Amino acid sequence: MSASDDLPSPVPSLFPSRATRERVDDLLTRELANANERIARGSVMPRLDMAKFRQELAGFDFETPQAVEPLLAWSIAQLELGAVHMTHPRYFGLFNPAPGAPSQWADRIAGAFNPQLASSGSSPAPVEIEAHVIRAIAGRAGFPAEAGGHFTTSGSEANYTSLICALTRAEPRFGADGVRAFPGPVALYTSRDCHPAWSKIAHQAGVGRCALRLVATDGNGRMDSRALSEAVTRDRRQGVVPVLIAATAGTTGGGMIDPLASCAAIARSHGVWYHVDAAWGGAALASDRLRGELDGIELADSFTIDAHKWFATTMGCGMFVARHTAVLNEAFRVATDFMPTNASSLDPYLNTVQWSRRFLGLRLFVSLAAAGWKGYGAHVERAVEVIAQVKNRLLARGWSAMNDSSLAVLCVVPPAELGEIRDIVRNLLSSGRAWVARTNFEGREVIRICATHGETTLADVDELVNALHAAGLPQ
Ligand SMILES: *Cc1c(COP(=O)(O)O)cnc(C)c1O
Repeated sequence: MSASDDLPSPVPSLFPSRATRERVDDLLTRELANANERIARGSVMPRLDMAKFRQELAGFDFETPQAVEPLLAWSIAQLELGAVHMTHPRYFGLFNPAPGAPSQWADRIAGAFNPQLASSGSSPAPVEIEAHVIRAIAGRAGFPAEAGGHFTTSGSEANYTSLICALTRAEPRFGADGVRAFPGPVALYTSRDCHPAWSKIAHQAGVGRCALRLVATDGNGRMDSRALSEAVTRDRRQGVVPVLIAATAGTTGGGMIDPLASCAAIARSHGVWYHVDAAWGGAALASDRLRGELDGIELADSFTIDAHKWFATTMGCGMFVARHTAVLNEAFRVATDFMPTNASSLDPYLNTVQWSRRFLGLRLFVSLAAAGWKGYGAHVERAVEVIAQVKNRLLARGWSAMNDSSLAVLCVVPPAELGEIRDIVRNLLSSGRAWVARTNFEGREVIRICATHGETTLADVDELVNALHAAGLPQ
């Protein structure tokens, strides 16, 4: 190339003109709204012809550039046909929400600016916005003003962070020497109804999966605090080093809340880090009527809440909140000379698992500011009411409730004249009329129904109940 005095033009497919961008943005807005309406009228379940889909996918060899409008239309169609729909009002499933509109708008803003949240030097305003939201959540839980924390991509990352904090605080040489710094094998304690990601967390942190003690439940899906106390005492007598007790506030299976205050007292008496995994149930803090269910969370050293569950943000919006934050810097510190920093603030890259960091928290900031605690309180209470309505109708038709959750999860078994649970769930899902899960609660196979969609109506509740019943009849 000659030493010409201009650069090649920007690649237009990646960096189109403003007019093109606006046209495609508008098209996308319309097409997504249409898809959303079709989804609510259609099947909750995927209806994709996988053979045809794979063939089309294989056709993308990335040799010939393609027009973007048909590409976006194709992508929407594959999502419409090829995924279980969290945005369907009869998705009564795992804690995956239909995302609220403010969070989707905020996600778009975050994507457009793409700020780097690793450091407060690069992103002074975004880092402060996130810290402000975390402090508000901490305050709502009854934590002191000096509490802090950060956004995570997931509840799993937040729970992992609690274990790293616990290990770092328990043994000053853990950072340098790892678990061999401890005088004996370490142990962490959750109930047997805890989220299964805890076993991956034990693996990742290097303490090993055997370090995870799954404490018995009390017959009602909550950690048995006497069994917890005995397990910790027994381990200590045998030279094991207990480092973390993690109670669950809102178990995945039954929506039960461990006895938070008793677990706190046991943790304190043994000098062990106390974490509350409120990934889903933590949103109950927004409700004046329900927040008392989480009493005892204020005694924790740290807790987890996923905004991408009951706070209904888009995926990838977890939170780790800690009473004392100095240990975060001890656990995640690093020395660099290239990072822009602002000595007056805590830089996320020096206090968290991540380095490059998306502006995760804007979604909860905008949603919380738009709805207020009151709006979120109403959202949470509405979900509890949806489940109460489901429960009334199923009990009236001879079903039995197995759990007694104050949150929005119901575990039921069908009356004797209906078929096996396995068949009922399979038939229901293949009907596409609603989505529910099959799980175990206190040793018994149950159908698990959870309200996750903020717009489910009584007609949807009736349709669920009719569809469940029909799924139990001879097909
Ligand atoms: C969902 C959940 C997790 C895992 O969180 P992710 O965001 O899916 O990683 C952990 N604990 C509880 C109680 C949960 O509900």
